[in-house]
Amino acid sequence: MTTNIWLVGAGPGDPELITLKAVRVLNQADVVMVDDLVNPAILEHCPQARIIRVGKRGGCRSTPQAFINRLMLRYGRQGKRLVRLKGGDPCIFGRAGEEAQWLAERGVQAGIINGITAGLAGATQCGIPLTLRGVSRGVTLVTAHTQDDSEPNWSALAAGGTTLVVYMGVARLHQVQQGLLAGGMPASTPVAIIERASLPGQRETRCTLMDLCQRATEIAVQSPAILVIGAVCAQEHLLPGTLDSKAGALAIG
Ligand code: SAH
Repeated sequence: MTTNIWLVGAGPGDPELITLKAVRVLNQADVVMVDDLVNPAILEHCPQARIIRVGKRGGCRSTPQAFINRLMLRYGRQGKRLVRLKGGDPCIFGRAGEEAQWLAERGVQAGIINGITAGLAGATQCGIPLTLRGVSRGVTLVTAHTQDDSEPNWSALAAGGTTLVVYMGVARLHQVQQGLLAGGMPASTPVAIIERASLPGQRETRCTLMDLCQRATEIAVQSPAILVIGAVCAQEHLLPGTLDSKAGALAIG
């Protein structure tokens, strides 16, 4: 596909968890519009580009979506090579779909380049195999925070039997816990709270669904964090290890 606008996933934070394709388009970019969950180290791949920060973290000062859209359209029509850089994967709670559609309705086709989403990377960093055979037959990525403040169908999620990975849950831990308990999920279900996955200061806390809110208060949990909920979290560091990005060596354990 030939286009001058790319919606690109920067991965979960570790600057080595990015695709070669993403690095290539960053390298060729004139302008890079960056979300605030993107590790600034990634911008080493585009030293020549104009960098525009358009973050909008929940509860913080934010750049209106309409402004971001119009800016992308302007650069797109000018023929500038524009990268819209987003944390994780642009299509997982990343608005790539709505931005691409908005542009397409105005005659500008954007390309999309995957990134590793925080939920998958975070679980792996903590040695949690999300679909461990015999333990979990699938994984469901779900947001606890919706635009209209409606609740997910917790009963269906509780009954589904898949590992749940909850995004944007820090401010809604109580709703997550109560919704799943009311939906019939056992109180003893293991949970992992994973903060700053793949970044310096990554922290992992294991508890049960019953203890979730209490443990989160004790550790003063902070965003960004994901929750992994399901029997796979009872597996203590089952995966052999993760690549240490600084040393480039395999850190076991
Ligand atoms: N497109 C992103 C998700 C954006 S929504 C992706 O694919 O990862 C923002 C939410 O993602 C945060 O509230 C948090 O739940 C999660 N998140 C993003 N980066 C994270 C990280 N490094 N560690 C833990 N959670 C993260």
